[in-house]
Amino acid sequence: MTLKYTNMPLDRCSNTRADISWLENQFRHKDSCFVIINNGLNLFNEKKSAVFLNQENVTGIDLKDCIFLGKNTHQAFFAIAFEHLNNTAQATVNSRYQFLNLLQASPFISEAEASILAYAKAIMHWHSSHEFCGQCGNKNTLVEAGHSRRCSNTNCNQQTFPRTDPAVIMIVEHTFEDGITRCLMGRQAEWPQGMYSTLAGFVDPGESLEEAVIREVFEESGISVKDVRYIQSQPWPYPASIMLGFIATAISPQLNINKDELDDARWFSRDELDAFGEMNDDTLAFKKTGKESISRFLADYWHYELAN
Ligand SMILES: [Zn+2]
Repeated sequence: MTLKYTNMPLDRCSNTRADISWLENQFRHKDSCFVIINNGLNLFNEKKSAVFLNQENVTGIDLKDCIFLGKNTHQAFFAIAFEHLNNTAQATVNSRYQFLNLLQASPFISEAEASILAYAKAIMHWHSSHEFCGQCGNKNTLVEAGHSRRCSNTNCNQQTFPRTDPAVIMIVEHTFEDGITRCLMGRQAEWPQGMYSTLAGFVDPGESLEEAVIREVFEESGISVKDVRYIQSQPWPYPASIMLGFIATAISPQLNINKDELDDARWFSRDELDAFGEMNDDTLAFKKTGKESISRFLADYWHYELAN
């Protein structure tokens, strides 16, 4: 089982990217690739294949506006905001390609491309939301190949680094008195009818991941859990999360649903999950979440890999 956005083909070159002459050589190389981001959207062609531009397509851009993403075996990749392209390059991009939400296009692109686009989208979001210094309010400038920002006020000089928001997501299981093990899934009112997902929530400051799992499950469903175990993680650039996937065991199956958080929550056996349809299937009563999500990964992992 593979998980979207977790197959990064690039070496981030953390030890060399701060060397400006090395970086300039990467930037000027004819094979270097530029990932264009426009207000959180990525660039695709009409077949929804990912578009990477080369130096010729982006003439006139400035290295100081570029974020170095990394290198594969023969190419360096940079992210740049659409607004930093000149008028000619912008017009060419607009006439040939389209900007789409990555989630919409993810099913059509390779695992490696999805990982690069997610990375570019996430780091660009951080830059656009940290334009100003959090300490003194002056403008921040991009430094260290785009992996840091520094306050332009020399009396302050505050440096900030890219952040990602940790969120826990968990499959909760319980073996009932009838001997059948079931998993807990919930849904929000605004979701497509019949769609159920694993529970999830952000980690609070001063909280361990295991504590966050226990708190979130209890807050949303009234279920107390134990034996919290880590499964896998997934970067989730919508806009800035890292999803940390867990499994936990419910102490008792008695639900007390928090209607402010969930429209519904239920226990499903593996046989019941067999009867779930895909997201776009309206013929069945229940739907799975999209194949890109770790929610789906955890549900499938529990359904198939942990079945015995
Ligand atoms: Zn400052």
